[in-house]
Amino acid sequence: MYCGERFEPDALTVDHVQPRIRGGDRSGGNLVTACGACNARKGASPLAHFLRDDIVARTHFFALAAKHVWPRILRSVADELDRLPGQR
Ligand SMILES: [Zn+2]
Repeated sequence: MYCGERFEPDALTVDHVQPRIRGGDRSGGNLVTACGACNARKGASPLAHFLRDDIVARTHFFALAAKHVWPRILRSVADELDRLPGQR
């Protein structure tokens, strides 16, 4: 989802777009796959912070997530990104 590379399924981790602690659920529209390297770079950062700091991840996320992430979650990530200082 973030680097845009392709991996074997066992090299992928499941990432919650909206963290469970913030009300995200386990439905398909809140889950994306990320490779281990991207998941490690993202760490515990809020998604919007990670996307602000990583233009490659941001580009892939909005291109790929648009197809299957719930629209309300996508909107909230985009809104949060807009409100962050120092982006772009
Ligand atoms: Zn990756």
